[in-house]
Amino acid sequence: MRAAGVVLNLVLTVVATGAVTTVFGFRPLLVTKRITTTTTTQLMAVTSQSTMATDKNNNNSISNADHVLFDVPVSNNGARCRIILYKKGISSDRVDIVSPAALGGLRSEEYMKFSPLGLMPCLSIQKSDNPHGISSLAESDTIARYLLSEYSAEGPSFLPDHPRSNQICRWHDVYLQSIQGCLYKPASRLPIGDFPDRKGAIAAYRRNLEVIEGFLGEDGVGGAGSSVAYLCGEEVSLADATLFPSAVFASYMLPKFDEDTTSPRPPLPPKLTRWFDDLRTNDEVFSRVYREIMDTLVKSWEETNHRWDGIWLAGLRDTAPATIFDRIISGEIPAEIVRQDEHILAFRDINPMAPAHILVIPKDRNGLTALRRATAEHTDILGRLLVAAGEIASDKTLGFGDGARIVINDGPDGGQEVNHLHVHVLGGRKLGNTFC
Ligand code: AMP
Repeated sequence: MRAAGVVLNLVLTVVATGAVTTVFGFRPLLVTKRITTTTTTQLMAVTSQSTMATDKNNNNSISNADHVLFDVPVSNNGARCRIILYKKGISSDRVDIVSPAALGGLRSEEYMKFSPLGLMPCLSIQKSDNPHGISSLAESDTIARYLLSEYSAEGPSFLPDHPRSNQICRWHDVYLQSIQGCLYKPASRLPIGDFPDRKGAIAAYRRNLEVIEGFLGEDGVGGAGSSVAYLCGEEVSLADATLFPSAVFASYMLPKFDEDTTSPRPPLPPKLTRWFDDLRTNDEVFSRVYREIMDTLVKSWEETNHRWDGIWLAGLRDTAPATIFDRIISGEIPAEIVRQDEHILAFRDINPMAPAHILVIPKDRNGLTALRRATAEHTDILGRLLVAAGEIASDKTLGFGDGARIVINDGPDGGQEVNHLHVHVLGGRKLGNTFC
């Protein structure tokens, strides 16, 4: 809601007449049109308590257009709907683009009557001839396809039945977009999709871009003789509108996570790079949407809020020196390994303090030089370490009896010597009651 407010401020321009207009066609409030109660009944019902403007006929209104698309410039999923509207040349009296801030923000009761989870974009259908009896749509692919059907007679069709386009759209929405938060969400908003940590989600994000690249086939994009080539050939498709905003995010954000910051890997695979560069440079509508998204990303997210400064693997990285445990993990020096998997390694302590003394460590330190460095980014590995410690403590073949002491030394005062988080599992006899 706060972010929407910021965007609102960015896009607002108050003109001399007192009416409100916006850069890029975004309006937070409409104040110039007469309300027709037959076409605005539903919207009026939910906005009666919200921040309203009064038009010259003394009516309260958000908009009396046929449709209201609730959206803001940086909204990735909303951008596909805007591309359709811009390409088809749909005027604001048919689809008005309004910030959710006009209803009190994404989490406001008023907005959530349209969009149950408070997400963007959302389309309010207000026209009188509404054969479907549906008053709002709250999911971007559904909205996009509605707009293609509603305005099928105007502008490009966007190839709504093209199998390649549909494959790319579905793959994007199910596998790529669903984990895109790994590029910008703070640790407090992990896990991301099926991925408990950012590193896994980013690897999967890259992999899904490769999968989409594979869908392009031999003809690819940028075929000989074409001035602008789209994902399905010479004609723009819904896949272009769907994938392009994510390509803007990926091209700007993925390099921030590259391990080699001096020469980062290209964020997009080769065919997608050509397609993206071509559209953002040569296609007027895609260039416009590129600027809409980038304007907020650069000026608000990056320069004002320094968003990536606090994000693990982007602004925050593990720069501490390697320890002896890295050499055990790599096999460079021997250890008596008792258990391991993809994430953890357990081995006997070289200087045992009890008949059974096992150390459990994360294979990827990932900033965990000590427990005090733990953040929400580490929730998964911390859980794995403790589960492994518990299993080891109950393993009689390792010398444990009825119970164990499980200890993490943390920092110099805690007696920690190796700066790589490790859990001591001690047992094999009844241990004393003193901790220090
Ligand atoms: P801490 O004092 O909590 O940092 O524990 C570090 C532990 O690592 C000590 O108990 C050491 O005995 C153990 N240790 C150090 N080097 C090795 C090694 N090469 N193999 C096994 N355990 C080691």
